Amino acid sequence: MTTKTDLFRVALLAAALALPTLAGAKDRDDDRDTRKVGRAYALALVNGRIHTMDAQKRVVEEVLIENGRFVQVGRHVDRGPRVKVINLGGATVIPGIIDAHNHIVLVGNRPGWSTGMEHVFTIPDAIAEYQKRVADVPVGEFITTIGPISAIQFLENRLPTGAELDVIPRPVYIQAAQGGSRANKLAAAWFTANAPGVTVNPDTGAVSGPALQNLREKLLTPDTRKRSAHDALQYFTTLGITTHGDAGAFHSETASNGIANENTYMMHFPFIAMQRERSMPSRLRIDYLHQDPATPPAGTAPLATLAPRLRNAFQFFGDDWLRTAGIGEFTGGGLEGLLAIGRAGWRGEDHSLSLNNFLSLVSLRQQAHDQLVAEGFSDGIKNLRWRISHVPGTTPESVAQWKGLGGGLLVGWGPTRGASSTGVPIGPAYRSLFDSGIPLGWHSDGGDITVINPWLNFYSTISGKSLRGMHDATTPVANAGNTISRWETLYLATAANKWFIAENDVGSIEPGNHADLAVLDRDFFTIPETDIPRIRSLLTIIGGQVKHDSGFFGRDHKGKDDDD
Ligand SMILES: [Zn+2]
Repeated sequence: MTTKTDLFRVALLAAALALPTLAGAKDRDDDRDTRKVGRAYALALVNGRIHTMDAQKRVVEEVLIENGRFVQVGRHVDRGPRVKVINLGGATVIPGIIDAHNHIVLVGNRPGWSTGMEHVFTIPDAIAEYQKRVADVPVGEFITTIGPISAIQFLENRLPTGAELDVIPRPVYIQAAQGGSRANKLAAAWFTANAPGVTVNPDTGAVSGPALQNLREKLLTPDTRKRSAHDALQYFTTLGITTHGDAGAFHSETASNGIANENTYMMHFPFIAMQRERSMPSRLRIDYLHQDPATPPAGTAPLATLAPRLRNAFQFFGDDWLRTAGIGEFTGGGLEGLLAIGRAGWRGEDHSLSLNNFLSLVSLRQQAHDQLVAEGFSDGIKNLRWRISHVPGTTPESVAQWKGLGGGLLVGWGPTRGASSTGVPIGPAYRSLFDSGIPLGWHSDGGDITVINPWLNFYSTISGKSLRGMHDATTPVANAGNTISRWETLYLATAANKWFIAENDVGSIEPGNHADLAVLDRDFFTIPETDIPRIRSLLTIIGGQVKHDSGFFGRDHKGKDDDD
């Protein structure tokens, strides 16, 4: 039987044993780290061109990572026996990319073995990528790419045909963000047997009818959703994204044929399951999209979905890997919706698709702000970091007004948006918005209507051209006078996005920040512009954990998430 006195003696003994070790340690840092870190080693990355994106715009050679955070940034970092040293061989390193608004949760709920195709630029390379995927996929099961794929990314300026996809010994279904679906013969046979109303053109493989709805109804299970969710986050670590801000989906109670539709009350479950298992491949922040009508139909309550959300949900709740955020990318409910969000102290986001759209959004927010001030909320909406995204049309005056209300803007129009191969509108006035001083951040808005790959987006922001420009030198500059530099573009997707995800310890490589970074396979700052879309990450570290590695480490290093 153990008494309190015994326990006290044990504690004394433990202290006596520990003290000489502490006092005798020659290297106090080592000793401190042994107690705090509790891991086998710290990690030093050396001989890199490490773009910190800190306030001094420092480019350094070395960083030391311990306990999930950067502890030294500069030169001559500690190299004790406990430190694993990785020589970067002069590679370019950037902070992990933050996509402040995309639709990764939709991508993570796709039916079939969802396969990212945003890093291939010819049809033969696409076919080769699907061939590689076959090794993962049991006979008879679907390989799919639904959403972030576009004809204009390919040299051939079209999607693969059904016949080209016939060499893949699995059913293959492609549905492109900007239109166009393709199926091979095996997929066509499955549709014939299982999906009434779906037809596949025998010559082109083009699909018509409710194909996506049938795939969702017949293929999705909690396990397949979890697989897709994992694969989606994992895929984008290979392109350097370490934090996704999800901007929601259109709500459908049951399986829908809409590429942007899901059950918005259940679609986060596969991600939450990964978070519970501590196996998140990257960080995820969740916004809640609401579309209550401004004028509720007779006999129905106002703000039928938004009001219960604000009463029953928590903002910024979770951990460093998965956390809830604000309302968006639709707030819904017109002025009453904005007032409810403001009274609850929540963040809100809506998108604009034209100048007139932007002007009316700003004017409605001014109204909401004024009324909240009149109600006694003295700061109105000013400190809530409300944002408007996309913003293809703005005026200096309206931007100044929105800035005065404490608002921010998320830009990035999507390099594949628009169906035409040339003259695609490239969207926002990056230059003048950057110079306006308003909080400005980057979003891909990808997953359903365009691609997520940040390098495809950055190419368009920098060149002013649609993605077609990487293949065709005659592609016109559609955003003349409003392009920004490579550094400015990367800044929007890293340090500038601290404001948008309301977290200061990501987005730059500085002591104390989460150790999130990507080692690039080529130097973003000096390669020819048309090579920017081809950039990939060789090594992606998130919270000090190796989440993607094309050869710097062995497989044994890949561990579970280690929250601190
Ligand atoms: Zn969006």
